[in-house]
Amino acid sequence: MLYGMTDLRVEDVEVPKPEAGEVLVRVKAATTCGTDLKIFQRGYVENVIKLPTIFGHEWAGETVEVGEGLKWPEKGMRVRAGNSAPCLHCSMCQKGKYNLCENMIWLWGAYAEYIKVPARMVLVNMQEIPKDVSYEEAAITEPLACVLHGVQEAGVRLGDTVAIVGAGPIGLLHLLTVKKMGVEKAIMIDVVDERLEFAKKLGADEIINGRTESVIQRVRDLTGDYGTDVVIEAIGLPATWEQAMKLAKKGGTVLEFGGCPPGTEIKVNAEQLHYGELTVLGSFHTTPLHFRKALNLIASRTIDVRPLITRRMRLEDIKEAFQILSTSKSEIKIGIIP
Ligand SMILES: [Zn+2]
Ligand SMILES: [Zn+2]
Repeated sequence: MLYGMTDLRVEDVEVPKPEAGEVLVRVKAATTCGTDLKIFQRGYVENVIKLPTIFGHEWAGETVEVGEGLKWPEKGMRVRAGNSAPCLHCSMCQKGKYNLCENMIWLWGAYAEYIKVPARMVLVNMQEIPKDVSYEEAAITEPLACVLHGVQEAGVRLGDTVAIVGAGPIGLLHLLTVKKMGVEKAIMIDVVDERLEFAKKLGADEIINGRTESVIQRVRDLTGDYGTDVVIEAIGLPATWEQAMKLAKKGGTVLEFGGCPPGTEIKVNAEQLHYGELTVLGSFHTTPLHFRKALNLIASRTIDVRPLITRRMRLEDIKEAFQILSTSKSEIKIGIIP
């Protein structure tokens, strides 16, 4: 249970009872995520979570009880679900912008032994896990789904040069994805050498440490003085949002992926926007379609997420896991096993 800033306690709570249309799942693995770490460190994230609560949102497990009226899933099935389910009938859903649904339901509670999946989520965002895929891998469906949605919005194409600002779990998932899409060059930017070395192992063509090198100059040097076709910001700070725009080529696209704190404003160079035909776009969350694609790509190992799990810990040690993530330079995602 998360009570507030870094106040995480292990408690016994009642096993939830599934009503009609709901499914109770025994969690087999959960994975930590940057959003969870942010919530742990800040004690809140606006509009998304109310405390105290069980938290965590990347998980997979086995169904133990299936509510009345459901023909699927069966009891004992390996599944993943959530962390969101759009309503399918609001004006955003009608536009196909399911990620912006006005009546979105969210599901928290991955760091637990059991999780109850709401009826709407069973219908639109629950999948059976293919048999050769581990629970931990399946848990990573959610962040990969967000990344797939982002790169689709950014229109990444074969032969593009791409710069990714931030080599955390989300930046690395972007790296794995754009490499599979056949980019000419993926340049990874961070301020921590350990993370950059890890990115190199995962296939980054070039790495730049923004603490010791001039990022803009290096990107220019690596792209014949043009900048990259696509820049992806995967940190969520106004300074890196602005930096991302300075790395793009004329006619290029900047995907501002990392969420900044509420009220944040950024400076945009109007000349670059107009004469340079720069496209700047934000990307929030993802859609049921991308959840499906993500699990399929994980299952086929087209996108192999296994190296991202750098440590495994027991559910009882969840607080320690977040303390490690708060300070470690080399941990990417921790698998939490109840
Ligand atoms: Zn996540
Ligand atoms: Zn909706």
